[in-house]
Amino acid sequence: MIVNKEYALSLDKEDPISHFREEFYVSDEIIYLDGNSLGLLSKRSEKAVLTLLDSWKKYAIDGWTEGNNPWFYLSEEMGKQFASLVGATDKELIATGSTTTNLHQLLATFYKPKGNKTKILADELNFPSDIYAIKSHLQLHGLSPEDHLVTVKSRDGHTLRTEDIISQMTDEIALIILPSVLYRSGQILDMSAITTAAHERDIVIGFDLCHSIGSVPHDLSNWKVDFAFWCTYKHLNGGPGSVGGIYVNEKHLGKEPGLSGWFSSAKDKQFDLEYELTPALTAGAYQIGTPHILSLAPLIGSLEIFNEARIETIRKKSLQLTDYLIRLIEAELTEYTFEITTPKEAHARGGHIYLTHQNAASICKALKSNGVIPDFRNPNGIRLAPVALYNTFEEVWKTVQILKRIMEEEQYKKYDNTRGVIA
Ligand SMILES: *Cc1c(COP(=O)(O)O)cnc(C)c1O
Repeated sequence: MIVNKEYALSLDKEDPISHFREEFYVSDEIIYLDGNSLGLLSKRSEKAVLTLLDSWKKYAIDGWTEGNNPWFYLSEEMGKQFASLVGATDKELIATGSTTTNLHQLLATFYKPKGNKTKILADELNFPSDIYAIKSHLQLHGLSPEDHLVTVKSRDGHTLRTEDIISQMTDEIALIILPSVLYRSGQILDMSAITTAAHERDIVIGFDLCHSIGSVPHDLSNWKVDFAFWCTYKHLNGGPGSVGGIYVNEKHLGKEPGLSGWFSSAKDKQFDLEYELTPALTAGAYQIGTPHILSLAPLIGSLEIFNEARIETIRKKSLQLTDYLIRLIEAELTEYTFEITTPKEAHARGGHIYLTHQNAASICKALKSNGVIPDFRNPNGIRLAPVALYNTFEEVWKTVQILKRIMEEEQYKKYDNTRGVIA
């Protein structure tokens, strides 16, 4: 029954948030399953950008304090819009920087090697940019990454076990950086249990939420996570290079930022232009310089959509979509040596599915030429992200039909099994 198209159509009919699809620039000829790399443009974001340009046109310098969204407060305002997505209070949040620059700021602020507590714990599956940033800070402290970066190993090459992470939390670990959702397999780490274990050992811990924000609910304040950082161009649909976010737990607010600038200042003091910085008593202190207003503007529209649709409802549909995709792959593609490396249990699965196959690169090219947009991850991964706000169950059904035809007809053999420049 699940392999029948009627079943997909019946799921779409019952979907309480199907109307949000009309808010996005989706094409009926293309099945876009790459919203976890770059989310689609919504009409509300487009309008927000145009309105912002208008405020520049109309107010010039006075745009900092005039208009519907005065630029001087926009980072704080967008920070508040993250609250329900990450489970934190307004003052713990700020929209600023990018994933990697925010990690640099947080490392500069929270990594304080002392005595024999000098090492940073990460994992061998994280996105490389995070590892590069960690190595920079070890080097800035004159410590060698070979000795001071400890990485949790994966037993199966795709997932991490909580007990393996905890067993690496030795006396020598000063700080832990982990992803919330692994960018390949899509596994969700147990952030609550891992944070508790870290704190029992007096270790500060931060999470990279790039692959979970906008797809999975979080409860950062209650879990007592020390800090977190993320981008907004993936599930949050902020557009290429849109401004990222930082969360810092309330107990740390008031801490001197590791990297200061005039936007770290308490807002009422900023234009006193004193040489002694008075940092904001909010996460706003972890800003550095003038906010990238044109790259914040799309968030005005896109975060409004998330707060209307509600993250719990988005998560529920996302799990249904990925569950349906897994079941269809298992029913229709058994003979073609695909392996699903994403955890099957709902609580351990983020918003995308990772399939491995020895011809993954050429299969991705064949999918694209059939109007399905996946993404390829070296060396043999196909990532498929059916996004709750704009994808349909029918599109998931069609994708598996197309993939089956590509395999049956060996269409992938027409393409090289190598990646493009961006893959
Ligand atoms: C997407 C992603 C990044 C990208 O970093 P930017 O600074 O936004 O380019 C970093 N880390 C993870 C885990 C990601 O998924």
